[in-house]
Amino acid sequence: MKKHNFFAGPSILSQYTIKNTADAVLNFADMGLSLLEVSHRSKQFTAVIEEASALVKELLQVPEGYTVLWLGGGASMQFCMVPFNLLRKKAAYLETGTWAVNAIKEARLFGDVDVVASSKESNFNFVPTDFIIPADADYFHYTSNNTIYGTELRKDPDSPVPMVADMSSDIFSRPVDVSKYDLIYAGAQKNLAPAGVTLVIVKNDALGHVDRAIPTMLDYRTHVKKDSMFNTPPVLPIFSALQTLRYYKELGGIDKLMLADEEKAARLYDAIDSSRMFVGTAQADSRSIMNVCFVMAPEYKELEGEFAEFATSKGMMGIKGHRSVGGFRASLYNALPLESVEALIDCMKQFEAKH
Ligand SMILES: *Cc1c(COP(=O)(O)O)cnc(C)c1O
Repeated sequence: MKKHNFFAGPSILSQYTIKNTADAVLNFADMGLSLLEVSHRSKQFTAVIEEASALVKELLQVPEGYTVLWLGGGASMQFCMVPFNLLRKKAAYLETGTWAVNAIKEARLFGDVDVVASSKESNFNFVPTDFIIPADADYFHYTSNNTIYGTELRKDPDSPVPMVADMSSDIFSRPVDVSKYDLIYAGAQKNLAPAGVTLVIVKNDALGHVDRAIPTMLDYRTHVKKDSMFNTPPVLPIFSALQTLRYYKELGGIDKLMLADEEKAARLYDAIDSSRMFVGTAQADSRSIMNVCFVMAPEYKELEGEFAEFATSKGMMGIKGHRSVGGFRASLYNALPLESVEALIDCMKQFEAKH
């Protein structure tokens, strides 16, 4: 049976990425050796990381003066690296979910944190847009897509200070005006590559302004200076990221990806809104096009387990919602074909017809 992959992360990758990665594990760049067993300083691998960084710059139209980095530690490591390197006195944060909460917790270790708005009181079912960012903050941090709650801020906010964004789960799904940011980071395992690498885009001039001592590995300047080769980078995820980036370029770039993503999400939200059995959990104006969260309407609540089983029997994988929201979550990342969304909608309709 055909499987449809709705996992939230690690999550679906293009067949192009998976096939080329599998091939390189057996024979990398015609060296007659596996990607797993050659030096990261070989000219073959150096070419991989250079092309991957160049493609990130091309796809996101990164202006001059920024460096693309490939780091370990996950997006969660960035929660502390960002304030370690950028917070002098005070930073502004938008609290829109678990990941934002975690980022705020780390930032408080380094200075004052002004939480400009929060949707915590309503279990993070929307993204606040009415807030004031203090002009004396060192930066404004927000999470562009709240993977767990299915909410998203789909445009760059206006800010009197440079921004920092956690774009782990929606990077490459919309154009970004990188010039408004001091730093953008994204764990790879949602829209780019297998887990193990984090993409960072940092403005060179934003670094070097804090007084504190920064451990070498946590200092962005170390990695900028050494082109992400200060220590051994996660070679396999970086190789996979390159495949995904080539694939994105081949498909026509960010604008094309965005149109496809919007189409997939619109179809699924329409199906949810027109059903009597399913209800979306995010407020309509905050809905994510990457993670669609829904529950059973109160009168059908007891059918939740049965629907989960039914969907699984039809090949729908990974649609169980996160424990803090419950119900279901279908992640519609870039690599997910429209056909999978249609299969899920069909499965929901069949189930509704049975009851
Ligand atoms: C998955 C995710 C994280 C956590 O990423 P790790 O790589 O596991 O640290 C952080 N932020 C967002 C928005 C995520 O989706």
